[in-house]
Order: sequence, then structure tokens, then C-alpha cells
Amino acid sequence: MTGAFHPPLRTLMGPGPSDVPPQVLEALGRPTIGHLDPQFVTLMDDIKRLLQYVFQTDNALTLPISAPGSAGMEAAFVNLIEPGDKVIVCQNGVFGGRMKENVERCGASAIMVEDTWGTEVSLDKVEQAFFENNNIKALAFVHAETSTGVRSDAKALAAIAHKHDALVIMDTVTGLAGIPVEVDTWGIDCAYSGTQKCLSCTPGIAPITFSQRAQDVIANRSTKVQSWFLDMQLIMGYWGANTKRAYHHTAPVNAMYALHESLRLVEAEGLAAAHARHALHHKALVAGLEAMGLSMAVAADVRLPQLNAVNIPEGVDDGGVRAALLEQFDLEIGAGLGALAGKTWRIGLMGFSAKAVNVRKCLLALETVLSAQGANIAAGQALAAAEAVYQA
Ligand SMILES: *Cc1c(COP(=O)(O)O)cnc(C)c1O
Repeated sequence: MTGAFHPPLRTLMGPGPSDVPPQVLEALGRPTIGHLDPQFVTLMDDIKRLLQYVFQTDNALTLPISAPGSAGMEAAFVNLIEPGDKVIVCQNGVFGGRMKENVERCGASAIMVEDTWGTEVSLDKVEQAFFENNNIKALAFVHAETSTGVRSDAKALAAIAHKHDALVIMDTVTGLAGIPVEVDTWGIDCAYSGTQKCLSCTPGIAPITFSQRAQDVIANRSTKVQSWFLDMQLIMGYWGANTKRAYHHTAPVNAMYALHESLRLVEAEGLAAAHARHALHHKALVAGLEAMGLSMAVAADVRLPQLNAVNIPEGVDDGGVRAALLEQFDLEIGAGLGALAGKTWRIGLMGFSAKAVNVRKCLLALETVLSAQGANIAAGQALAAAEAVYQA
């Protein structure tokens, strides 16, 4: 390829990135200024305020890390965990496994609480792990498991950790702005997210927040944070209030314009309205899929509205269907991940993607492609079933 790259206009209904609103893309193209420019510092302050709103926290240490969600995860562990620490890690999908990796790379030991993929984290098993082990430094769990489409009970998990005086580390990369996230009310010591899921921003930034208790733990470390780039003490010299805003790294200036715009849109809509919107389109999508004869992979009470895991019908060519959706409809849905590869599709309704036009397009496209494959589905019912939800 020698010419300019012009991407196709896709409809993004996978596990992220989600559709990016035109206002956010427009913000990205505004003139670049210096990352120490006083005007940029004003923008940084407003991004912090908006992140405090979406996380529902007053935490002073709330900021966007200049790297994707995975760096948010890494920042949480490298700052809070030291060699020799013990961390209870809940795993009910792909991302809990990455938490284990992070804990072990910090020289700490991970006490695993494992649940079947597609089910929520068991509170009983977590209680049990605390009773069987003492001096637990932290409990780590994934609020919204993107690999399976399952929501775990973050509030109840945090309450268990508090009884045992452990820190709470929560991955809410997919949760944030799609379902309620209450960092202060739940007592979460560190929560991190990503920009490309329900915030509907371009990928590459990781919002993160640390409680005062977590900040104290960081301040009293006996070893240096193993990562220079993600060391919060150093980053705070740049992002912290009342600091000299010393150079740490060059902030991705234009990506911050985009993040600011996406957060502004969330604030304008209001978190409660955003949650209700995700819930509505999820309901319409499920009604349509079930009318077609497809079945959901996750029990209704723990389903994530923003990530819908659907069982792939017997005899259907998984890759062939997704390729046809992309080619014929410019529509991206997600493949199954890890243990669920080839067994489920993951249909995202994240942020700006959570809208009726996407639900209709997805149902129509799936019906067309599955019919062409000779799959045993009921054609002609799905759109009406979704419309019935919208009319109700
Ligand atoms: C997407 C995701 C991540 C990783 O985010 P990246 O931006 O891809 O690095 C981590 N945890 C969960 C639950 C996710 O869905």
C-alpha cells in the first residue's frame, strides 16, 4: 500500500472498540498544542473532574494513563503490590487470568478463586479464600468480564475484602459508563478502565483512580515500583494538583481532546440515562435474537447489557458468519475468547454503539447471513420482536 489509508466505515458491535461519535473524532483533529501549555493544563484538570464523575469518586488520584486498558491493569498492580504480598484473584474469564500474571510478575503470590466461564464470581468462594489465608494484601476481580459477558457483584465483593482489611482492585474496563460503577460508595481502592468500550472514545487511554488508602499504601512502599513509566509517584508530578507539572512523558495531546469530548458527552447524557439506554437496547437485541431462535450464553440476572454472549448454533461456520457480516454489512461482532472460542459470539452494545439502528442492523444482518448458510433459524421475526421492546 503506497497511498493514504482510508478505513471503511464499520458498525462496531464487538467487545471494543465501539463506534466513536463524530464529535469525538472531530476533537481528535483539533490543533496540537504543547503538553505543558497552560491551556492544556486546564484541559487536564477538566478531564480529571469528568473522570471523577464517571467513576463516582472524590479520589484526588484520578487520571488517564497514556496507554490502553491493559496498562491500567498493570498500573494498579505494580503500584499496590510488592514482592511477597498475597493477593486473592478471582477468575471467571480471560481478564482474571491476566490479573494473575500481573500479580506474579510483581513477585507476589496469587491465590486463585476460579469460577466457570460464563458465571459470576462466587461470593462464597471468595469468603472461603479469606478464611483459609491470612494477611491478604488485596482482592482483585473483573467487574464486567468482556470475554464472557458476565457482571459480578462488585459491591458485595468489596464488602468481603473490607471485613478482612484487604485492598480492592477492580477492572471495570467494560463496566464504566455501561452499568453502575460506584467507586466511593462501594469502597474500591483502585479501579481502572479503557477509553474504547462504553466511553466510546478512540482506543489507547486508561482512566484510573486510587483511594486515599491506596495512595497511602503507595507512599509507604518498601520497594521501588518496578515500572518507571507506570510509577504513580512520578506520574503525579505531572498530573497532580498543586505540582509543578514537571515533564514525565509527552501526553498524547490529541487523544486527550478526544477523551475530554467523550467524557463531556457522557456527562451531558448523565450516567443514569446512559445505563438505562444500554439496558433498553440490550433488551431489544435479546428479544430479537431469541425470536430468531438463538440462545444467550449467560443467565439473565448476570448479563452485561453492553456485551451479549450468544451461543453459536450447531453446524454454523463461526468465522464464515463473521466474515460475511463484515463484507456484506460492514458490521463487526466479536468472536468467542479463550475457552469460549468457536462456541459464542460477543455482540457489543457499548457507548455510542448502544442504539436502535445498530440493534436493527445486527438482527437483520445476522438473519440474512445465517439464512444464507442454511442455519436452522426462524426468519422474519427478529425485527418485530425488537420493535415490540421499543414500543413498550
Ligand atoms: C478490553 C479489556 C481490557 C484491556 O484493555 P485494552 O485497551 O485492550 O488494553 C482489560 N480488561 C477488560 C475487562 C477488558 O474488557
